[in-house]
Amino acid sequence: MWTDVISIFLKSNCPLCQRPTGKVFCVDCTRQLQHCQLSDRHVRSTTEIPVFAWGIYGGALKRAIAALKYEKKSQIAQPLGFWLADAWLNLPSTSSQPIVIPIPLHATKLRDRGFNQAELLARSFCQMTGLKLRSQGLERARQTVRQFELPANEREQNLVGAFHLGSDFRHRRPVRPVLILDDIYTTGATARSAAQTLRQEGIQVFGVVAIAATLKGKG
Ligand SMILES: [Zn+2]
Repeated sequence: MWTDVISIFLKSNCPLCQRPTGKVFCVDCTRQLQHCQLSDRHVRSTTEIPVFAWGIYGGALKRAIAALKYEKKSQIAQPLGFWLADAWLNLPSTSSQPIVIPIPLHATKLRDRGFNQAELLARSFCQMTGLKLRSQGLERARQTVRQFELPANEREQNLVGAFHLGSDFRHRRPVRPVLILDDIYTTGATARSAAQTLRQEGIQVFGVVAIAATLKGKG
């Protein structure tokens, strides 16, 4: 009887449907999320940066990322980061050991949200892959308009000079290439701007990993 009582206390509600669950997501939502997985995770882009994504930005995965960011359900980051890590570890060539850096939030947004979702995802990703995390590799130089509020042709311009090196790399550049991690990859403008900043500082960019990517609007 006591074990039943204890298990009730250990159960929490699924952040997507509010049903009680012993894990982060309930069985139904886990299934729906798994359906968002991409079969070919190498998202092609017109840039020279290789992009690797776990799933398609839509359906349950889009809801999960929104709940993580806007409803502040930080517990969502762990399973998503693990799934991305699992896919990464299953790549045929994972002998490279890049240093992982999450796309940073501007200090004001970080204060409002209380956490950087990309950093939480990166933590979980690194926990499973064993890759080294440098959460202060980059910093936001200024606050930018939210990308989705802009038409595609203005997104690139919005992010020019958006980043500079963070405290982890400012005084000592990493010797190994870095892997940029973001929650969503849409037009690629954010990743390109981050990569440009790193390369200008002589840092080699291995690629970009994201939980979700749009299949349209790449470039
Ligand atoms: Zn659920």
